[in-house]
Amino acid sequence: MKFVRVVLATAIISLVVAVLGWQLMPASTKSYLKNVARPYANKLVTLRKIQAVTNGPTCTKKLADRNLDYRPVADRNNAKGCKVSNAIRLSKVEGIKLSKPATMTCEMALNLSTWVERFVQPEARRIFNQEVETISHLGSYNCRTMRGSKTRLSQHAFANAFDVSGFTLSQDTSLNLELDWNGGGKAQQFWLSIHKGACQSFDLVLGPDFDERHKDHFHLDAGFYKACL
Ligand SMILES: [Zn+2]
Repeated sequence: MKFVRVVLATAIISLVVAVLGWQLMPASTKSYLKNVARPYANKLVTLRKIQAVTNGPTCTKKLADRNLDYRPVADRNNAKGCKVSNAIRLSKVEGIKLSKPATMTCEMALNLSTWVERFVQPEARRIFNQEVETISHLGSYNCRTMRGSKTRLSQHAFANAFDVSGFTLSQDTSLNLELDWNGGGKAQQFWLSIHKGACQSFDLVLGPDFDERHKDHFHLDAGFYKACL
């Protein structure tokens, strides 16, 4: 009987801990678990880092070693729960200008610089024999919920995500994700290759194969979860 009581008590305590854990979990973490982790549980998910470390003073020191044009941005919070911490206003990365300046965390800026230097520019040279001149994007910081959710905050609400939609190259070639992703030829080859590269540079990558909402951009973020979709 004693054994049965111990098993029962353990089961009840585990249930209470699980329920309480879910209740106390931050909204942004729940968002990922519900929207990303659940449908792709077999491909995901590693809870892996403490943001204060990866986006802290060590990150700021590394900015100086990269080829970035930017100005610092003051930290801020608002009543909706959106928060910007250790961010910069980035206008150029590795000599390539953004279609408009973008506010993003230090960690995102480092990841972007890695992606552009190691994958985007080399692949444009290899496949098109041209240089990338502009990165077109649909935004970075935005105090909003995740697409398709009324309540769950996106990593964009923390300046911790960047949506890339296209590139212009030096001989007037325009690359547009929505048109090119299933379009065959060199352009499709380029996008597929840099998608793989993005997965080595960022934590979460969501592209057109993930869902309809991402048909025209790669969502790149430095959040808590790792996935390549
Ligand atoms: Zn996004």
